[in-house]
Amino acid sequence: MIYDFSYFFSNQMKALLHCNEKKQQLSGILNELNIKSKKIAVPEQIHSNNVQLINENGTFINNDGLVTTNQKLILSIKVADCVPIFLQDQKNNTFGLVHSGWRGTAGNIVKCAIEKMILVQSNVKDIKVFLGPSIKSCCYEVDYKVAKKFSKISKIKINENKWMLDLHKEIKKNLMQLGILELNIKSSEICTFDQQDCHSFRRNGKFAGRMVAFMGILK
Ligand SMILES: [Zn+2]
Repeated sequence: MIYDFSYFFSNQMKALLHCNEKKQQLSGILNELNIKSKKIAVPEQIHSNNVQLINENGTFINNDGLVTTNQKLILSIKVADCVPIFLQDQKNNTFGLVHSGWRGTAGNIVKCAIEKMILVQSNVKDIKVFLGPSIKSCCYEVDYKVAKKFSKISKIKINENKWMLDLHKEIKKNLMQLGILELNIKSSEICTFDQQDCHSFRRNGKFAGRMVAFMGILK
């Protein structure tokens, strides 16, 4: 299964989530999608809030998000319950892809991505953001230590040490605080824990595969 969120973006920009049911390596998925490896940019994710501005392909250490103005590049990230965040400023030809689990969300990684876009002259009013499939508040139980890092609107208390967390809500709040327009933010309804096509770390633990998100002009 490949989810395609390109409709939300403009020009020829593609925003895809490959569910990777066969647990292929990245190279296998690139072959399947007909993407040349010299175009691909891959962060070596560490659950940080670091985002890097890049202008070439390759592997990038110590970060969980990439932003570029290079229309020849295709950005990628791996997820299994964490939120893949797709960003585009079509006026300024800037785009980004971010991995935001609870650590990245608590560290406001999306803000770091927007700041990188502003650095290359994007206007917040022109930035569109799609929050892709992730574990949703229906299934995302966390303890107090995690819950306390999030704002009231993004969590529901079940008991003292059991909370249901809504990462999308927290990310949307963070985006709106930065001046991103509500109409330019869209959230996928898919919960990766419930959706059997998706890999879910919470559902399958160490046996979970990884899905791969892509953003860029594929041709
Ligand atoms: Zn769910």
